[in-house]
Amino acid sequence: MPRTLASTVPGYPRIGPDRELKRALEAYWAGESGRDELDAAARAERERTWRRLAALGLDAVPSNTFSLYDQVLDAVVLAGAVPPRFASLGLDGLGTYFAMARGAGGAGGVAPLELTKWFDTNYHYLVPEIGPATRFHLDPAKPVNEYREARALGLETRPVLLGPASLLLLSKPVSGAPSGFEPLDRLDDLVAVYALLLTTLAAEGVEWVQLDEPAYVADRTADELEALRRVYERLGGLAERPSILVSAYFGSLGDALPVLASSPVEAIGLDLVAGGLPVGDVPGLAGKTVVAGVVDGRNVWRTDLDAALATLRAVESLAGAVAVGTSCSLLHVPYDLDAETALDPQLRSWLAFADQKVAEVVTLAAALRGEDRSAEFDEARAALAGRAAAPSVVDDGVRSRLAGLGPGDTRRGPYAERAAAQRDRLGLPPLPTTTIGSFPQTGDIRRARAAFRAGKLDRAEYTARMRAEIERVIRLQERLGLDVLVHGEPERNDMVQYFAEHLAGFVTTEHGWVQSYGSRCVRPPILYGDVSRPAPITVEWATYAQSLTERPVKGMLTGPVTILAWSFVRDDQPLGDTARQVALAIRDETVDLEAAGVGIVQVDEPALRELLPLRVADRAAYLEWSVTAFQLATSGVADTTQVHTHLCYSEFGDVVAAIDGLDADVTSIEAARSRMEIVPDVAASGFDRGIGPGVYDIHSPRVPGTDEVEALLRRALADIPGDRLWVNPDCGLKTRTYEQVEPALTALVAAAARVR
Ligand code: GLN
Ligand code: ZN
Repeated sequence: MPRTLASTVPGYPRIGPDRELKRALEAYWAGESGRDELDAAARAERERTWRRLAALGLDAVPSNTFSLYDQVLDAVVLAGAVPPRFASLGLDGLGTYFAMARGAGGAGGVAPLELTKWFDTNYHYLVPEIGPATRFHLDPAKPVNEYREARALGLETRPVLLGPASLLLLSKPVSGAPSGFEPLDRLDDLVAVYALLLTTLAAEGVEWVQLDEPAYVADRTADELEALRRVYERLGGLAERPSILVSAYFGSLGDALPVLASSPVEAIGLDLVAGGLPVGDVPGLAGKTVVAGVVDGRNVWRTDLDAALATLRAVESLAGAVAVGTSCSLLHVPYDLDAETALDPQLRSWLAFADQKVAEVVTLAAALRGEDRSAEFDEARAALAGRAAAPSVVDDGVRSRLAGLGPGDTRRGPYAERAAAQRDRLGLPPLPTTTIGSFPQTGDIRRARAAFRAGKLDRAEYTARMRAEIERVIRLQERLGLDVLVHGEPERNDMVQYFAEHLAGFVTTEHGWVQSYGSRCVRPPILYGDVSRPAPITVEWATYAQSLTERPVKGMLTGPVTILAWSFVRDDQPLGDTARQVALAIRDETVDLEAAGVGIVQVDEPALRELLPLRVADRAAYLEWSVTAFQLATSGVADTTQVHTHLCYSEFGDVVAAIDGLDADVTSIEAARSRMEIVPDVAASGFDRGIGPGVYDIHSPRVPGTDEVEALLRRALADIPGDRLWVNPDCGLKTRTYEQVEPALTALVAAAARVR
């Protein structure tokens, strides 16, 4: 095996350990700094990364894992697939790049590429638009320059690129493409560009190239598998090319593995954390190097080195050679655990962030070739044993409570009875108007929260400021004439982190930032132990809001699935068990809200679809535990209490049955952007409870007029009876301004009145 692959990673974070790149990008976009400063920040981050990976002992250091915005957008540029609406802006390369990412010319200008979830992670990529007329051409500047940059530092690197088949499978057809056109129809043209790229890289002296094909860990048709075969026959057959590593992550390759194993590529990267070892005899695999992803690249737990080494030995018997890697790019974890000086030392010993994972990969590779690494193995063993025995992880009270639950604990009374009881209690008009929960987060609120957190504002003053804000928001809603009010969520930094900070079993980090998209980062909490709710969390705010008004105020909670989806979750028990623990904590909160006189409780599950497994065969089990968790969280209240849920998307298809299974009294969904497209589907599914298809697209600064909202409501009424239709925006208002929100909600209330 070429020495360069013995230990490696498919990718590494790039936003900067202190989010240096985020700041450089935002300063550049704001016009506060120039191109030179941005370039310098980018170069510094790349150099830091390469030097760090080399210093940690990694044999094969990747390059081109850096990105100014998104690696899929980089692939669009590489392939010359810039849509005409951006190319015609007459901007330079960087200007065009950021226009694709962020749009140009403000409202009414050029819309950016669509942003969507990267598989089942919390990273978001920009969706390429491919049409019959897309004129692919090679623009190799980025990978070539980065390779040269690293070489100038004395480092031989492996350029990492999105593979051509996955690029097309992640794309959407340009609008106006003939019906039946699929981006994959353009495969041969795109592969020609990649062929030229490989020849170019070979001429540069590149020894290895990595082509990522993660699209093949999902179910693929025979045609799509055939496309993969064609790509690697063609690229593998090139006379002048680097050695090729095809890497796939977030699951197992399934039927795509034999395709790659029988192609002329040199190495295949497998995710052995999310997927298992290849089963049965895979023809051709014995002739390949397998880069075995045995170190989890997307969670934060320290690796069981003994188990990982055993897996590596098992791979040795299947493959021609074995290299050690992480299961996927380290983009999905924070940089360095050493920065978390405030974490409890014992808990810290159980964790590994990107740099610690690289060290684990290096250790495993050394052990695999017979070097003595017993010190590292002993340390890992001790940490794992400590974690398994730690009293802080186990809460017997939580366990026995869960063990004592029966089927009755996840069910409410029949919907018809609930609906009648709620009608009597709440006395709402037909087509009730409401919002999704958050109101605009002003600078004042953010500053008050930050000051409180930093200890510069005492609790009494903080509470007074939040109460003042709640009162303002209640009065505003009354003035606007909304029927069901909210407190506005001013006390929440983030809908998951807020709850994590108040639940036992979670810790939050100081520097654990992970890129979400572009310059946006999140700091997922770490769920390490049994979860419980030591004290009520939202009750004081909700009851204060309710005390101010005669109208019903809706209590606002985050659901168990979303809390899991946006946290790093423990890997020592099934996800469904963890979900039920979180559900019990939320259940306690719903019951306390009810007891405090709050008659409506909303439990948001915007991530329900995000966690949906990539393979269809795995979905039923997921939907089973996720729906049960939601039911457990919401079925502790009486029939007279109205349970709402909110889901953040409009494509219902895959989860429509699950939404019915949640058994919420009212479900709000995103619909304004698609102009109510989804309403007929919901109606056809037999869903027969309250539904609020959004009538105000809060993702845009645009303010809808009354006529427009009225038209949307009339469209919805074609499929949904008037006694089940709710009137609400698409999502929370927290990213909007009051100048936008006030007229938009005025139109929403006026339209509801007209239609009534
Ligand atoms: N209640 C939350 C809010 O209004 C819901 C946010 C979400 O769906 N992502 O902000
Ligand atoms: Zn939403």
